[in-house]
Amino acid sequence: MLGQLRRIVQDVAQEPSLANALAGLVSNVKNALQTECCSVYLADYQQQQFMLMATDGLNKDAIGKVAIGFSEGLIGWVGQREEPINLAAAHLHPRFKVTPEVSEDCFSAFLGCPIIHHRKVLGVLTIQQSASRVFSEDEESFLVTLGVQLASVLVNAEMRELASQSSPKHVHVGQLQGLIGAPGIAIGQGFVLQPASDFDAISLQKSDDPEKELSRFYRAVKVTKAEFNRLAERMSGHLPPDALAIFDVYHQLLDAASLGNEIEAQIAEGWCAKSSLKRVVEKFARQFDDMDDAYLRERGTDIRDLGQRVLNHLLETEQRHHKLPEHVVLVAENVTATMLAEIPRVQLVAIVSLKGSVNSHAAIMARALGIPAVMGVDELPLMQWQGQQLIVDGYQGNILVSPAEAICHEYRQLMNKDAELNARYQAELHLPGQSACGARFNLMVNSGLAIELETTQSEFTDGVGLYRTEFPFIIRSRFPTEQEQIELYSKVLTGYPDKPVVMRTLDVGGDKPLPYFPISEENPFLGWRGIRLTLDHPEIFLVQIRAMLKANIGNGNLHILLPMISDLAEVDESLRLIKQAWFEVDDEVNQQHVVPKPKVGVMIEVPSIMYQLPELARKVDFCSVGTNDLTQYLLAVDRNNPRVGNLYDALHPSVLRALHQLGQQTHGLQFPASICGELAGEPIGVLILAAMGFNRFSMNHRNLAKIKWLLRRIDLSELKLLLPEILACQSPKQVRLQVQRFLDQKQLLNQLRA
Ligand code: PEP
Ligand code: MG
Repeated sequence: MLGQLRRIVQDVAQEPSLANALAGLVSNVKNALQTECCSVYLADYQQQQFMLMATDGLNKDAIGKVAIGFSEGLIGWVGQREEPINLAAAHLHPRFKVTPEVSEDCFSAFLGCPIIHHRKVLGVLTIQQSASRVFSEDEESFLVTLGVQLASVLVNAEMRELASQSSPKHVHVGQLQGLIGAPGIAIGQGFVLQPASDFDAISLQKSDDPEKELSRFYRAVKVTKAEFNRLAERMSGHLPPDALAIFDVYHQLLDAASLGNEIEAQIAEGWCAKSSLKRVVEKFARQFDDMDDAYLRERGTDIRDLGQRVLNHLLETEQRHHKLPEHVVLVAENVTATMLAEIPRVQLVAIVSLKGSVNSHAAIMARALGIPAVMGVDELPLMQWQGQQLIVDGYQGNILVSPAEAICHEYRQLMNKDAELNARYQAELHLPGQSACGARFNLMVNSGLAIELETTQSEFTDGVGLYRTEFPFIIRSRFPTEQEQIELYSKVLTGYPDKPVVMRTLDVGGDKPLPYFPISEENPFLGWRGIRLTLDHPEIFLVQIRAMLKANIGNGNLHILLPMISDLAEVDESLRLIKQAWFEVDDEVNQQHVVPKPKVGVMIEVPSIMYQLPELARKVDFCSVGTNDLTQYLLAVDRNNPRVGNLYDALHPSVLRALHQLGQQTHGLQFPASICGELAGEPIGVLILAAMGFNRFSMNHRNLAKIKWLLRRIDLSELKLLLPEILACQSPKQVRLQVQRFLDQKQLLNQLRA
């Protein structure tokens, strides 16, 4: 049953034409359940009706013509109730609506099941039978399971269909909704970067140049055959001749007479080389999968392996052929620091990440680079973004694909307005960070990505509140040496003379894996991350601390920050290692230099440590609140998971109350506390934090000018009056409204974004 379900869903996913996909679906379901009729209706929210899209059993002439209102008939009822409806005699039910066009008089039994994606009903799947009987629990659960699986395939299916056509640039595809990653607006062309791919990631696409596709395919076959020759040569002597014969089989399979022929036929039908390969490989592999003989079933794996190798070569040539557009919108399954490094900064205008959410590190990188980003938009398969004209709206979290010129024009005006506002903030960057009533703020930068950019403004900041050291580790193919780290850290420390630079020890794990140190975990954010990993690998920790201490010689502005502390023993162990590293370095420099002892602080981002503040304050010099992780751990919402992205909100009343208590406690303990999470760099967030009494904020350098501009217009005593109302709010939405109203009264709201 599971296999049947999987195959039915796969068939729908792979068929680029929606009409064909649904036609296949209904007959497959009808056969699988041995019933007499299966139909599918899709919701049209504009017309408030369900349209019959495919049927095997009802009158086919009604397809695309018969529509049933959202509040009409049994179909509408399934949609309203959002649950299956199973009736032995449908025509006797008061909700039954006679629809002569579909010719369903012969059917009595009816089972309708909604197809729901993210709480939205996309359609209704029905099966019908002439015998008057209630469908069995098995049949019902089959249809429910199918509905759940179909939902993610059908969502935006029409969009896929349009985008799969050969000249997507000329097609108005529409709007895709994701999550806000980084604010701003950009217009550019989609440029896809992907790690080594498999067939699941390939979406079917047509081509209008079969000649070119054919020659691409031949080239890939040639390279694959040469690869097999090399492999066979290397293995000869290690493998018996009968095992080596597999390479001859592969050669033959690739020849025109077998798979090659089929693939050529697909290309002649108008499919691009990759799609043709996928269609043929999957068809044959599936035929082998279904065989009873175990030996023959294994041949399915061979076909897939062979196909994968040809696909890799096709993708290689394709990536080489794609010229970088003038304005690049980088699109990837998961945007990584390495990918960002591949695109020249001047050309990169926006980021679209199919996975990830608002505070994924890809989004944080985008904010640091000052380019808009939209996260978690998985409706369009990866390769179909390639070459698309895109408007990325990082304020709304949506993307317009192939927009009309008039729309581009409107967005260009918004971009101009944005630039105007930015210039206004920048003009005050050199002024002191203080409120209208004269209260002083420490405004620091979060750094670690675009270091050249960030240090140019060092004179206008109060230092670096968070230097994320992991990025230099991520973009290499091995751990950086002590000397490499010294050079890096020296640059940062000397870039901020006489100002504190808070360097965080390596915080990899979670959504920041090291390519050369893969960690596979079920719950990476609750796993081996940050200090947990580096304390288990003192050789990594010690080298990093030594490099920091050496870089600090002659500078004296280093502060060390420990990430992901959840337990006091971790603090003790870290302090012990820092001490050890200090003695080693002091020994090494042999009294020729003074090795300053840096202040050490702890990140408050795991809730447990918030309850041990008095002990913590006795052990370390300062703390820095990481609201990004604190939010995910307090709310139990993975910051990287778009499915729960709407639940991740640092303005959640519980998070705000926790921060308020933290502020009061650290104040009472005279324990210096700063905020370095993204909340400090957002207008609403920083105002609430200031109202709570926090006055040390660290944010990406892009936000600094705006936040300074805003704080300079605020009277702290007025803001503090707002705090009880904010803390009494019951939802993030209410919190936002309260602060927006305050900003509106001060005529500041419309000056904060275009
Ligand atoms: C945080 O968690 O708030 C933080 C600043 O660290 P990161 O985003 O790097 O996890
Ligand atoms: Mg963190």
